[in-house]
Amino acid sequence: MVVKFETMESLGDIMRRGQTQFSVLIVVLLMSGLSGCISDEILFQNEESRGIPGGLAMACLDSSKYTKLVMEIDYENGYQPKSSSTDMLKQRLEQVCDKPDGVSISSTETIFGKEGSWTSDDVRSFGWENKDNQPRTDSTLYWQILFPSGSYTDDSVLGVAVDASTIAIFGDSVEEAKGPIFGRPSAEEVENSVIVHEAGHLLGLVNIVYQSLSEHEDPDHPNHSNNEDSVMYWAIESTSIGSIISGELPNEFDELDLEDLEHMKTGVVEVSDQLWTP
Ligand SMILES: [Zn+2]
Repeated sequence: MVVKFETMESLGDIMRRGQTQFSVLIVVLLMSGLSGCISDEILFQNEESRGIPGGLAMACLDSSKYTKLVMEIDYENGYQPKSSSTDMLKQRLEQVCDKPDGVSISSTETIFGKEGSWTSDDVRSFGWENKDNQPRTDSTLYWQILFPSGSYTDDSVLGVAVDASTIAIFGDSVEEAKGPIFGRPSAEEVENSVIVHEAGHLLGLVNIVYQSLSEHEDPDHPNHSNNEDSVMYWAIESTSIGSIISGELPNEFDELDLEDLEHMKTGVVEVSDQLWTP
């Protein structure tokens, strides 16, 4: 199937915009030809420490300062992620992040008190309001995933990574994303993949804070893999996923994703926009 898309703006354009703090929002637009884009938003100066997705990648890949990773999960009543999703997330992060004191999940039921749809600014502000810890506290790195009620402003989006430590996944949209035929993939399988996908953006995949030595970024969907067997394939975070891939969804980083992370970790490629460097 030929997928038509429009690239609104390349990350390079965004980067060139200057020193001002910005964030990257991964948005997948749906319909008539599935289209994907990255839009950016200028943040206030005082929010500079929030960074961009991938801004704490080295803090995860390296253990010289941060020896432990805690995934803080803040879910609204009825939106708690499946344990298969959090187990898988933990497993995938253990695979790539060097955390001798472990990767753990800390879940809290949260009342966000928000009506209507979510923008990336909402995800950031409600996220930060509810963080139990600063992302870097002593020797622990804290990443956060919100599971709110309601959907994203673009309701074809299942999940977004909005800064260096904050993700949101929209359960109602995940539910709608399940496959039309026999409900395969199931909403649970979609959730399994989306949670790993968004964590992949916090690790900087693909080409957010580095330039891969392999050509595996989809030119039509910046910061996503061109391999539909990678969890970083663009459609993983789109409600159309159930109709694009029927049956088994990828929920693992592919070889080239893993190679990129290894290259970042070992200094083979330069890593930019880091809030912390070893
Ligand atoms: Zn994505």
